[in-house]
Formats: sequence, C-alpha cells, structure tokens
Amino acid sequence: MTHFAVIGAGQAGASLVARLRAQGFIGQITLIGAEPVPPYQRPPLSKKFLLGEMEEERLYLRPRAWYAENDITLRLGDAVEALVPAAREIVLGGEVLRYDALALTTGSVPRHLPAALGGALPGVFCVRGLPDIEALAPHVRPGARALIVGGGYIGLEAAAVLASRGVQVTLVEMAERILQRVAAPQTSDYFRALHQANGVKILEGTGLERLLGEDGVHGAVLSDGTHLDLDFVVVGTGILPDQRLAEEAGLRIENGIACDASCRTSDATIWAAGDCASFPHRGGRLRLESVQNAIDMAECAADNMMGQTRAYDPKPWFWSDQYDVKLQIAGLNTGYDRIVTRRDDRGARSHWYYDGDRLLAVDAMNDPRGYMVGKRLIDAGKTADPAKVADPTVDLKELMKG
Ligand SMILES: Cc1cc2nc3c(=O)[nH]c(=O)nc-3n(C[C@H](O)[C@H](O)[C@H](O)COP(=O)(O)OP(=O)(O)OC[C@H]3O[C@@H](n4cnc5c(N)ncnc54)[C@H](O)[C@@H]3O)c2cc1C
Repeated sequence: MTHFAVIGAGQAGASLVARLRAQGFIGQITLIGAEPVPPYQRPPLSKKFLLGEMEEERLYLRPRAWYAENDITLRLGDAVEALVPAAREIVLGGEVLRYDALALTTGSVPRHLPAALGGALPGVFCVRGLPDIEALAPHVRPGARALIVGGGYIGLEAAAVLASRGVQVTLVEMAERILQRVAAPQTSDYFRALHQANGVKILEGTGLERLLGEDGVHGAVLSDGTHLDLDFVVVGTGILPDQRLAEEAGLRIENGIACDASCRTSDATIWAAGDCASFPHRGGRLRLESVQNAIDMAECAADNMMGQTRAYDPKPWFWSDQYDVKLQIAGLNTGYDRIVTRRDDRGARSHWYYDGDRLLAVDAMNDPRGYMVGKRLIDAGKTADPAKVADPTVDLKELMKG
C-alpha cells in the first residue's frame, strides 16, 4: 500500500494529514512527532494558556481518537534521527520506515541566549512549547520581577500576561523600537503606549549585556550599564527554521527548507510546509511564521502529494492579543512607503500600508471591520483610496465598491 509519512506533528503536520484524508487518499499515513502530545496550537501559549485561562486539552488541534478514526498512525515522543532520500527511508528509534512520499513539517526552534551570557541559568525561559509554559508558569506571581528579552510579538504577549498577573516587567529591545522587524513606527508607538499604561518598563535601543547568577538567575546587566534585580527571564528573540534533518539529508536549504511553488523540496518525493519551509514569492523567497501559512501551505502540499499541480499562493493574516487589544494583520507590509491611519471614537484604530497607490497590508487594533475590509481588498488584489480610509465618516464597506 502507498505510504505517505509526515515528520513533525504540529500545526502544519496535522493540517496536512487531515487534508490527505479529506481529499480521499486511501493509502497508509504516518504522522511522527517528537513531542509526547497530539498536535496542538501554539498561539495560546503566550496568551490564554499562560494566563491560566485554558485547559491543555483545548490546545489540541484534534482529539487523540480522531487520528485512529481516520486510520492515521500517530507516533508521538519519537524524534526522527535521519532521512535517506535516495532509499526513501526514515530512521527513528533504531527502526527504519520506508515511504513513497514524505512531508517535512518540523517547524522552528527558538533562538536561545548564549550560555556565555547566562542563557543556560535556571530561571531563564522561552515560550515555544508546552514544557516551556509548564516550567515558566509557577514563577508568574504578583510582585515577582521579570526581564523580557526581545520586543517582538512573543515578548510583548508574554509581557502583557505577566503584567496582568502582577509581575513587575522590564522589556529590553536591542533595536531602536519594539516590533521594528514587522511593523510600522505607528504600530510600535501604539503598543509601547499600551504596555507603559499597564506598568511595563520598555527599554528600546537597549540590549542585554549578561545575566547574573550561579544556581539561578538573580539579575541582569544591560548594555547601558543598568543593573536589574530579577526573579526570572523570558527570552523572545525569534526563531530559526528547524531544517536539520533536511540539511543533513542534502536537500536544498535557503532561508529554511527550499521548496518550489508546489511546496516540493529539491527531492522529488519530499514536500515541506510551515515555519520550516521557504517558497518562491514575488521574484524572491519567503518564509512565514504563522498559523495561516502552516495550514494553507500544508494543504497545498497535500494536494500536490496526491498528484495535483497547485501553486501555493499565501493570503497572509496574523493576530496578537495583548491586554484587551486584539491586533489583526492582513497582508505583508514589505516595501511600504507610507502609512494611513484610521481611527474612530470607540477606540478602533488601523494602520494601512501603501506602496504608492497599492494597498499592501493593514494592522487593525480592536478594529475587526478595518481588518475584514482590508483583508478582502488585499486578497482580491484591490486597493482603497487613502483619503477615504483616513476619513472615519466614510463607511468602510464603500471601499469595497471601488
Ligand atoms: C507562543 C507562540 C505564539 C504564537 N502566536 C501566534 C499567533 O498569534 N498567530 C499566528 O498566526 N501564529 C502564531 N504563532 C506561530 C505559529 O504557532 C507557528 O507559525 C505554527 O505553529 C507553525 O506550525 P508548524 O507546523 O510549521 O510548526 P510547529 O507547530 O512548531 O510543529 C512542528 C513540530 O515538529 C516537531 N519536530 C521537529 N523535528 C522533528 C523530528 N526530527 N522528528 C519528529 N518531530 C519533529 C516539533 O517537535 C513540533 O512539534 C505563535 C507561536 C508561538 C510559539
């Protein structure tokens, strides 16, 4: 019987196997995951789950029983050690599995602080998987002093949860401003003000010189010479694609596992999807780190594994929850030359990114309507008159008519 194997039981792996069955694949499917639990959603790890407002079971993308019901062999707690593409073999736990087609959905790994800076000290945490939250959660108590290293979405979401739980939070961002890599200055300004209003100390243009402690972290020295007394540290300095297996197997690597437009790697029987994979986009190569990308790319890969020739066309969207603000992002802002701000008197705010007259992306803060209209326009390749966008008396629905 034809055997499709999938390495990496996360968001993309779970979506891929579900799609194979939904499209009528009747062969054997094996989904292999290094973690001992069924595929789960990561976004709540830095939001509701860290706040203690969500049960672990609710993180699971599908109940364990679903895999058996759909005749999918789920091998959990088993990290694949090696791939041998020429023989179509996977090596795990001293066993060799043969496949007819393979998908790599291995995700990403967090950038750790170097041990020389104190990154290996007890009391230093990252926010990537369930075990990280289990280790961090007992330290989150009123009055504790925490340092967050990195002002991207993960660092800011962690800051919001800790501050809401009464922790005294200092956040350092080495770049000139928080969210510098991903958002316009207007969006950084909005979130800086939000965090400051909630008591978080935000230090931009400030790096971590080193952490202090022997048996556990108890302080930090910052690049401006400041000494901080601390109880724990959360590191949110970004992720790297998990490309180890692919690299060792000789697959082409370029900003992650390099795929063609159909999500196929440099080996004709191996596909890839999610955080670990890059794909051709607007004359360059793009790798996205989002739930939307993991699902849509995995579904495209599954269709192509079954013989279609579908090109992956990302329709990017992303969200972040911080305090009572829901940020929703549609599109990709790369190459913008101006920002148009729309705000109403009920607190909704959106930043619209343009390249000339072309609408590229929208950051919508507590503005679901702005997000929805912006997303529809961007997905349809349409734009919106900036003067109308900026005018709160213009009904957003009118923008759809243009
Ligand atoms: C705290 C947090 C908050 C986030 N918030 C948002 C958000 O608000 N919105 C959003 O769109 N995205 C968010 N993301 C990003 C999103 O969760 C990821 O982009 C998504 O999970 C990527 O899916 P994936 O399947 O590629 O990787 P993952 O879900 O990470 O799954 C990869 C799996 O592969 C396994 N694996 C790796 N190597 C092997 C091996 N050799 N053998 C077996 N298994 C292996 C890993 O253990 C892992 O379980 C967040 C991520 C984090 C960590």
